[in-house]
Amino acid sequence: MTVVAIDGPAGSGKSTIAAVLAERLGVVHVDTGAYYRAGTLAVLRSGIDLRDGPACARIIGEVTIERRAGRTLLDGVDVEDDIRGPEVTATVSAVAAHPAVRAGLLAAQRAVVSPAGAVVEGRDAGTVVVPDADLKVWLTASPLERAARRAAQLGTAESNAIAIHADSIERRDADDASQMLRSTDAVEIDTTGVAVDEIVARLVRLAQRAGAAGERA
Ligand code: C5P
Repeated sequence: MTVVAIDGPAGSGKSTIAAVLAERLGVVHVDTGAYYRAGTLAVLRSGIDLRDGPACARIIGEVTIERRAGRTLLDGVDVEDDIRGPEVTATVSAVAAHPAVRAGLLAAQRAVVSPAGAVVEGRDAGTVVVPDADLKVWLTASPLERAARRAAQLGTAESNAIAIHADSIERRDADDASQMLRSTDAVEIDTTGVAVDEIVARLVRLAQRAGAAGERA
């Protein structure tokens, strides 16, 4: 069993790298951000005040959030496209900051970590979700690269679009500061200008070494 925790800010390459790494290792990919996004969608749909932590937690506690084949289901309905849209992206940090919301979603995230192993990705994977992970990774990338990736994901490469994304990424970093918990024993990797395959190959080697060391211990 190998558990890998991958954390880092928005646009650092976490999702792509975590998905490919999970496939290479043959373990489940746990995208913890998808749970916060789906929970936020449920809160937005309910019309309650996002600043009301207990109410947000209650709404989220009443829905079912599942991940299947890289898609996110809210009460059994595919909401993957909705949770990646601008409305959820602009409000998710506020909902995720409520301690009661975090406590509820933590249980759901941990429940999908398989005994066979997992790649758990987010902001607090290495510190909170799977603090005993065999390998912990903290990904970074330059602000310009992070904004360009976000723009490309949304289908544009124009420089003014990149500047707008740089602004919103900076804002999300600030909003996420309290939940962005870097583990002191995480390996830091700067993904700027490095191909996904190269990073994944390095992580596979690190994970295999860490998993083997864990089995000997
Ligand atoms: O990873 P992604 O950008 O999809 O995460 C969306 C939001 O969910 C983050 O901006 C953050 O507010 C929240 N989040 C969190 N803790 C995590 C993962 C995500 O608070 N472990």
